[in-house]
Amino acid sequence: MEKHSIYADHAATTSLSQTALEAMMPYLTNLFGNPSTAYSMGRKAKKAVEVSRGEIAQCLGAEAREIFFTSGGSEADNWALKGAAHAMRKQGKNHIITSRFEHHAVLHTCAALEKEGFSVTYLDVHENGIVRPEEVARAIGESTGLISIMFANNEIGTIQPIEEIGSICRKKGILFHTDAVQAAGHLPIDVRKQNIDMLSISAHKFHGPKGVGALFCRDGLYIENLLEGGAQERGHRAGTENVAGIVGMAAALKESCAHIHENASFVTALRNHLREGLLQIPGCRWNGDAVNRLPGNANVSFSGIEGESLLLMLDMQGICVSSGSACTTGAVDPSHVLKAIGLSDNEAKGSLRLTLDRENTEQEVDTLIHIISETVQKLRNMNPFWKET
Ligand SMILES: *Cc1c(COP(=O)(O)O)cnc(C)c1O
Repeated sequence: MEKHSIYADHAATTSLSQTALEAMMPYLTNLFGNPSTAYSMGRKAKKAVEVSRGEIAQCLGAEAREIFFTSGGSEADNWALKGAAHAMRKQGKNHIITSRFEHHAVLHTCAALEKEGFSVTYLDVHENGIVRPEEVARAIGESTGLISIMFANNEIGTIQPIEEIGSICRKKGILFHTDAVQAAGHLPIDVRKQNIDMLSISAHKFHGPKGVGALFCRDGLYIENLLEGGAQERGHRAGTENVAGIVGMAAALKESCAHIHENASFVTALRNHLREGLLQIPGCRWNGDAVNRLPGNANVSFSGIEGESLLLMLDMQGICVSSGSACTTGAVDPSHVLKAIGLSDNEAKGSLRLTLDRENTEQEVDTLIHIISETVQKLRNMNPFWKET
């Protein structure tokens, strides 16, 4: 069989851009100084970290002093939620609102906070995969101190009404955090206009390196420190900076943001082409709103198919895709996101997520449609219970 190699799992991670790699190289080689040291090599590293902080802030509509570097999206989410929860407890507030289809970095952090005595409301998500601001407003009580709703979902790509939810929070004096790991570099973000207090990003989701991210925390907010130790990140998150990672993240975000509109229209066209092709396959359903979603995200379910088997057969043909969320691969549980939008266990288990990017081509999309169609048919032929309805 002809060997294709198509990467269609950009929501799991992306390649490191050449620009980011080149920006990082000096800090991986001769400019290895510790930014906390006083001699010239250390000062150069410090300068690079601070320039990067300013560039990242600018891409988000923030100020440099509002950006705190972390080891990635998970850490930023943990810090935002735990830090804000512990701070609000001192003001007698103990209620958090989030949604059922957040990333596990948010959901599991909320579960940990529940064990500490916080109360958490998990909002339902509607079939289109979008949280309704009026339901957020309705869930607010006297003791609500924090609301966390993701910017765009990592499995179905749906974009949330962030500005409206932020405005509700602002009026009520409630902190608003958003996990923007899937959105940063792909959708325009303006933390001021969108009324965001805290926002998480991760470099490897926009062609930066893995293991580095940032938390935007609005000036004047107080959240508890995450790590104690040195005075890095203005004393709020100790540990010698990942200098090369930070520089690479800034270069990648700047590059993505400079081309955000042209990339979005190119990738949206590819995704729509993929959608039309996949929907030609009998027993294929589309998951989540068709329009209000990340440019590259396609999520479908095939009746009579195990998504995991499909994924493995596609892998043998050189195609990288995801069934459910990459973070839950290995577990056989159906995706919590697809269940949250009302899919049955079988529909959720028969799902496939394809996430395209500026690196994909129309020819690749045609190949994807062709091979997926063939493979679905093959799997169904192997399933004695499958009959076309
Ligand atoms: C990938 C992802 C994370 C985790 O980011 P890491 O940098 O891998 O820790 C968190 N939230 C969302 C929505 C993601 O897609």
